[in-house]
Amino acid sequence: MNADLHCHSTISDGWLDPEAVVRRAVANGVEMLALTDHDELGGLDAAARVAAELGLRFVNGVEISVSFAGETIHIVGLGVDHHHPVLVQGLRQVRSGRDERAHRISAALEKVGIRDAFEGARRFARNPDLVSRAHFARHMVASGLMPDVRTVFDHYLVRGKPGFVEHEWASLEDAVGWIRDAGGIAVVAHPARYRLSGADLELLFDRFVAAGGEAVEVVSGAHTEDEMRKFANVARRRGLLASRASDFHGEEESPVDLGRCNPLPSDLTPVWSRLL
Ligand code: AMP
Ligand code: MN
Ligand code: MN
Ligand code: MN
Repeated sequence: MNADLHCHSTISDGWLDPEAVVRRAVANGVEMLALTDHDELGGLDAAARVAAELGLRFVNGVEISVSFAGETIHIVGLGVDHHHPVLVQGLRQVRSGRDERAHRISAALEKVGIRDAFEGARRFARNPDLVSRAHFARHMVASGLMPDVRTVFDHYLVRGKPGFVEHEWASLEDAVGWIRDAGGIAVVAHPARYRLSGADLELLFDRFVAAGGEAVEVVSGAHTEDEMRKFANVARRRGLLASRASDFHGEEESPVDLGRCNPLPSDLTPVWSRLL
């Protein structure tokens, strides 16, 4: 099964609208797709409609921003009821801090001579409720300050750099709880991308499992093959379901296109066995 269970549209920080994401997935041979916009469910109806027209299995998804041990981590929810009031209200609360955060990022950038970054980022955000660091990065590339998005992050937007601001997202337990209340499966997204190792990483999985989390992205567009092997072992050791995910945002920004990830190691139980 060519399953791709994590990607983004213009409802968060993807470049393609939800319909175009689905069309591209079909063109790439994807057989099961989950759209997982950051802290947003607003693209799911449009994506599901086109997927039904084109005969693609579509899974309602979301990627929730979580604060854990001083890091931001991402928890994907798959197969959620996107009208469930607990999930809808929880995500509304998570999004509510983004506008104020974007203004703080802009003020921080102003201090190093980058002016009007909020307005610039806002122009790249099709959803005014969801201004992300990716939109700041795109604005700074477009205005010729930096050659590409990756370089903007490295120089300005990650912890320790001048445009980084602290922000409190959802708790791990809340995010997993909202997903479960909405009938979904909680997945640790791209676990190799966090600045967590050793005991902190074990604690993340301990608390995730205790809260009712069930799966981990073993294959991710954001993982190397070594990282894939490491988290395949985590899935085996903890009996977690395994997910496969491009985390596609757009052609120019994403290393892996929709449906083009490596296959899962064959001894793991794919999370999509629960989504068929
Ligand atoms: P935010 O939720 O506003 O903190 O933005 C996070 C988003 O920024 C991620 O979902 C990625 O799309 C993007 N991102 C984060 N770190 C990087 C990076 N090092 N290089 C490129 N994009 C990144
Ligand atoms: Mn993103
Ligand atoms: Mn993510
Ligand atoms: Mn993502």
